[in-house]
Amino acid sequence: MHTLPKLPYDYNALEPFIDEQTMTIHHTKHHQAYVDKLNDALKNYPELQEKSAEELITHLNAIPAEIKTAVQNHGGGHLNHSFFWQILKKDVAMEGEVVDAITQTFGDKFKEQFSAAAMGRFGSGWAWLVVNNKKLEIMSTANQDSPLSLSKTPVLGIDVWEHAYYLTYQSRRADYINAFFSVINWEQVEKNYKNAMK
Ligand code: MN
Repeated sequence: MHTLPKLPYDYNALEPFIDEQTMTIHHTKHHQAYVDKLNDALKNYPELQEKSAEELITHLNAIPAEIKTAVQNHGGGHLNHSFFWQILKKDVAMEGEVVDAITQTFGDKFKEQFSAAAMGRFGSGWAWLVVNNKKLEIMSTANQDSPLSLSKTPVLGIDVWEHAYYLTYQSRRADYINAFFSVINWEQVEKNYKNAMK
């Protein structure tokens, strides 16, 4: 059975950038629902219950047709949120090999281009910094789709579903994206980058 991972910090740890109530609902209601619905989708597939969400989503084409969409949505939701909580932290210096690689790849345009990808995702979805063939790329996905299903490895991602920001920012997605840059855990992003480059 998949279970809801504990947050590595308190629900108010990201204030004022991401408020306590949003974090509480996002984790205990939205993420929990993805976990529950993933478990429900897998209930008649004991061999798939053995696999991690990462394995399921990386090899989405191996999932039986009758549960593929459910695994894509809820397995993706579980995986993406588990990833997202880890890359959030206040007051972490923007440094490391990943930051050097970002500068090399995007010059001084990283924040602008990442924000544009997050703003340009129509409806619900995510924007990502990924490693693809050992190179950094910015991309976005719809719904709970993961770059892993496209053989790209996420190192940083922002949830741009309204549930991620609406209580504080209402329709002002741009303000939320700007605030997100104040709560990036660059130490975790560095780990993700180094793992992706192995
Ligand atoms: Mn979310």
